[in-house]
Amino acid sequence: MTSATNLGFPRVGRNRELKRALERFWAGRETADQLLATARQLRREHWETQREAGLDVVPCNGFSLYDHVLDTAVMVGAVPDRFATISNDLERYFTMARGGRALIGRPGVAALEMTKWFDTNYHYIVPEFHRDQGFRLASSKPIDEFREATDLGCRARPVLVGPITFLRLGKTEEPDHDPLDLLSRLVPVYEELLRRLAAAGAEWVQIDEPILATDLDDRTLTAFDRVYERLAAAAPSLKILLAAYFGTLGPALPRLLKLPVAGLHLDLVRAPEQLDAALKEVRPGFALSLGLVDGRNVWRTDLTAAVDRASRAARTTDVMIAPSCSLLHAPIDLDAETKLDPAVREWLAFAEQKIEEVALIAWAVKEGPAAVEDRIAENRAALKRRAESPLTRDPAVRERLAKVDAGMLDRPSPHAERRKAQRARLSLPAFPTTTIGSFPQTDEVRKARAARKSGDLSETEYEAFLKRQTAEAIRWQEEAGLDVLVHGEFERNDMVEYFGERLEGFAFTADGWVQSYGSRCVKPPIIFGDVARRGPMTVEWTRHAQSLTSRPVKGMLTGPVTILEWSFVRDDQPRAETCRQIALAVRDEVADLQAADVAVIQIDEPALREGLPLRKSQWAEYLTWAVDAFRLAAGVARDDTQIHTHMCYCEFNDVMESIAALDADVISIESARSGMELLGAFREFEYPNEIGPGVYDIHSPRVPTREEMDGLLQKATAVLSPEQLWVNPDCGLKTRRWEEVKPAVAAMVAAAKSARQRLEKKGG
Ligand code: GLN
Ligand code: ZN
Repeated sequence: MTSATNLGFPRVGRNRELKRALERFWAGRETADQLLATARQLRREHWETQREAGLDVVPCNGFSLYDHVLDTAVMVGAVPDRFATISNDLERYFTMARGGRALIGRPGVAALEMTKWFDTNYHYIVPEFHRDQGFRLASSKPIDEFREATDLGCRARPVLVGPITFLRLGKTEEPDHDPLDLLSRLVPVYEELLRRLAAAGAEWVQIDEPILATDLDDRTLTAFDRVYERLAAAAPSLKILLAAYFGTLGPALPRLLKLPVAGLHLDLVRAPEQLDAALKEVRPGFALSLGLVDGRNVWRTDLTAAVDRASRAARTTDVMIAPSCSLLHAPIDLDAETKLDPAVREWLAFAEQKIEEVALIAWAVKEGPAAVEDRIAENRAALKRRAESPLTRDPAVRERLAKVDAGMLDRPSPHAERRKAQRARLSLPAFPTTTIGSFPQTDEVRKARAARKSGDLSETEYEAFLKRQTAEAIRWQEEAGLDVLVHGEFERNDMVEYFGERLEGFAFTADGWVQSYGSRCVKPPIIFGDVARRGPMTVEWTRHAQSLTSRPVKGMLTGPVTILEWSFVRDDQPRAETCRQIALAVRDEVADLQAADVAVIQIDEPALREGLPLRKSQWAEYLTWAVDAFRLAAGVARDDTQIHTHMCYCEFNDVMESIAALDADVISIESARSGMELLGAFREFEYPNEIGPGVYDIHSPRVPTREEMDGLLQKATAVLSPEQLWVNPDCGLKTRRWEEVKPAVAAMVAAAKSARQRLEKKGG
């Protein structure tokens, strides 16, 4: 038996209806009923779209008002005490996600933490557990949404976050407490839920355990045997599809195939070799869900190959055709992209096109490829055009890349030497102060950008506006007493898009939004061809800013790894190769800034750690090419050009060697919120270069005091040598308001002065 299925569909809506409804609701401009009606309408549209595209079974309960892990926490009653007093369900839910504002007579409530969902750019809400954690079935959401889909005449498969993944993704503050200890209390809740789903008429349930794509300890792995035996027995009529994705199951595969579940989903895009391995071991009647269509990228599937593989599998066992993972990570509808170059467009598939591909593969398996011959022929022809397209290949780029040698990755001298040259050129005080690059993107800035887009503002007027903003920012920074200034990034909408728009090989969508978290969506560029720089990308802005002041202005670039990680990347060559192409373009920009007398250049790499593969065995390979790409970009800098880099929150401990290997002269990191905790890694490693540990938590509207920041600086000086330290905020200030930024930066500069005085007293 073969069926066309899906693991999950984007929630936000073609026109980001969910985002808009959420924001209206949060602003008090819409009632809960209105929000819930929008949500219901979206679910309905999504189910109908999928059914009409030819899916036999549609997923349900993948929809969420904010996040599916938060939904799971609420469903099993894992609501931390600080939210328990909020009696309204929706208010409690959103307070868990976003925190609660302090009101008179009621202090603010801190939100649950948020972190990256495996190696995607989606962020989930981190559940909090404690040793005495109890669970109960506290919500009927999966059952309600199953009924909703069924009432619309859809065959629906409820999707649940699996209990093991759920506990593993959660956190506990208690020492020696492993959330997995809570399994025996959690499983009964799932048992009850499965019984209720069976009673409601569900035939299949999809239980997602993506944790299986990570390195698991023995304890976690054996838990699968126990847990799934119980879940399978809980509701014998309900068939469980255990879904793992984002990578290979590794040595766990044979063991998982022996579980008493009815099917297993395999990500055959990331780990195609798993199919043969599974077909060897699979028992009769067991269903394999074949993730043949890339759920995380935007490229069309090679249907010929997919049909071939699926047909082979179907000769051995029951198969479900599926995307590799939930389509949550793909933009929704390619048909809306009328402005894309048609030559590139025909290589792409978004969520809606991907489910059509799934249906087509299933149809070809059932009826034989002849039944869909024209569609497959058309697909083959498009893929051939892509493979042969000159748009994807720039001989000059390839030739240049072939000539890159190891020497290009190194600065002329070691940091100790460079430091002397830079000190002499920049004449900075101890504890130099700077900011991370962006200043508030005010309504005024946003309006001007919109006016330029609509044509209400001419290019010249817009530029004049931006120059005025920059000039004001420079004047204010001088007054504030900052040592290394920035131009403020007013001309940038986004730190990747800005560069992508100035590079060959990138395409941009009009509506290719993907959920990042809650109501926040991003629109990643598509890298379809060789990357080359058309000309200087930032030099004019930096030069203009520098012309207004005698203090050094930092040139501001996004690094090659971050541009790569925050884009949809071509799948016809290794990512490392694409990254090196971007690195060469950034290198040219560094050279041009340097030639324009810019003495300090920052290459932001906030995504460097995010790019780490899920399996440790693949870390070294990734880190090697990622670090090399940064070095290729920075290596062109002379000794007296100071290279900065910036990373946001980052667990440095296990990648310290690579951070040091970047050999940036100065690294600024986020550390205010954790009270400088992260610096331990730098001390232990005896990090040799300079560091700016953030002293100002820019994620909060709160203005920190001089004393507070001075306290953080004292902590930092206790760990690192004062000569190494810079004073800066945690990250860019674009999301803050000037009313917050001005006093905060003034206090930060004052804190740096106190630190200098202390140093002088000590005779430094
Ligand atoms: N230079 C960027 C800014 O200041 C860095 C942003 C980031 O780290 N994500 O906004
Ligand atoms: Zn940052």
